[in-house]
Amino acid sequence: MKLKKALLVCLLPAFVIGGCGKTTTDETENTTKQESAVEETVQDEQETGDTGTESEASGEDADKETEASKDLFAMDTYMTLTAYGEHAQEAVDKAAERVEALDALLSTGNENSEIYQLNQNGEATLSEEGGYLVERALELYKKTEGAFDIAIYPVMQAWGFPTQDYHVPDDDTLKEKLALADASKVNYDKDTRKIFFDQDGMEIDLGGIAKGYTSSQIMQIYQDCGVTSGLVNLGGNVQALGCKTDGSKWRVAIQSPDDTEEYLGILEIEDQAVITSGGYERYFEEDGVTYHHIIDPATGYPADSGLISVTIVSDDGTLADGLSTSLFIMGEEKAAQFWRENSDEFEAIMETSDGELYVTEGIADSLTTDMDVTVIEK
Ligand code: ADP
Ligand code: MG
Repeated sequence: MKLKKALLVCLLPAFVIGGCGKTTTDETENTTKQESAVEETVQDEQETGDTGTESEASGEDADKETEASKDLFAMDTYMTLTAYGEHAQEAVDKAAERVEALDALLSTGNENSEIYQLNQNGEATLSEEGGYLVERALELYKKTEGAFDIAIYPVMQAWGFPTQDYHVPDDDTLKEKLALADASKVNYDKDTRKIFFDQDGMEIDLGGIAKGYTSSQIMQIYQDCGVTSGLVNLGGNVQALGCKTDGSKWRVAIQSPDDTEEYLGILEIEDQAVITSGGYERYFEEDGVTYHHIIDPATGYPADSGLISVTIVSDDGTLADGLSTSLFIMGEEKAAQFWRENSDEFEAIMETSDGELYVTEGIADSLTTDMDVTVIEK
């Protein structure tokens, strides 16, 4: 029930998005549909529990602009795509098509996807996009010293996450699956886009970066369509194009992981992705213990680093998504050090299980929060 309340609260800002743009006559139907889809979202999301960050997009001048907005379900997530201006409808329609195409390409559960085929056969020739994502994922594996590991999929399966057949695996199974979870045994040649695994039974999952990549692709589509102001929310992963139509920054509310009715804070951004990973997003309970879906490749168990929420802010949606997962696994100290070494690429907001909020110095002034903040400095 706690979850239900959270979702109701979190979805309220989605109505604000719908309300801040003027609807032209031929878009009335679309907006009505959006609102009923939002209602549906409230009910269905109780089951998936997949939400984190929500966004506000209110602006007094916004009603001078045309708004187009679309809700859809893809990548196991409820998504809202919003764009403003003359080309908003076309941009949102194209973006929705793209989301579906990417879902079909990358889904581990779809028999026709290239990732499914690769996992079945242990080798494949990837599409340009699949190849690009594998390349980015393998880079992240190195950069995060193995925290981000797309070869974790056999372990995810041992816990029943992909099929929602949740259970704690026995030690032998976990040991066996963990031996397969090693991205250094994924061989990828970017010239031929051929990929193969060193060991039988290995499988990969791009779920840790797919949504961030998707949101960055949507920004590109918006731009190609001539849109200069827009926002996407892919199940708590937000990316914004430009500013709001009144010229002010977007205000993104970051859900508090421990009190689901509260926001951890409001962050002001422009042209950036804001991506949160938290153990509260997908989890199950067994014998009174909660197990979530972000797996520490060092143990095969859900990461237990002392962090309960990590938000990454970056121009690069793919990076932000991969790092939100990675820093959640690293824990505060290592994550802070990682940021110091890469502070030109991203900023972070991290909450620990004892209620401390750490914010990197580059965004400290853009975050409004009631919590006591420790600023991480270089
Ligand atoms: P969400 O997708 O719920 O927003 P994340 O971005 O944190 O959350 O990604 C979690 C997903 O990433 C998992 O569902 C799984 O597919 C994948 N994953 C889990 N652990 C790892 C890991 N150590 N490295 C890479 N991907 C992971
Ligand atoms: Mg992620």
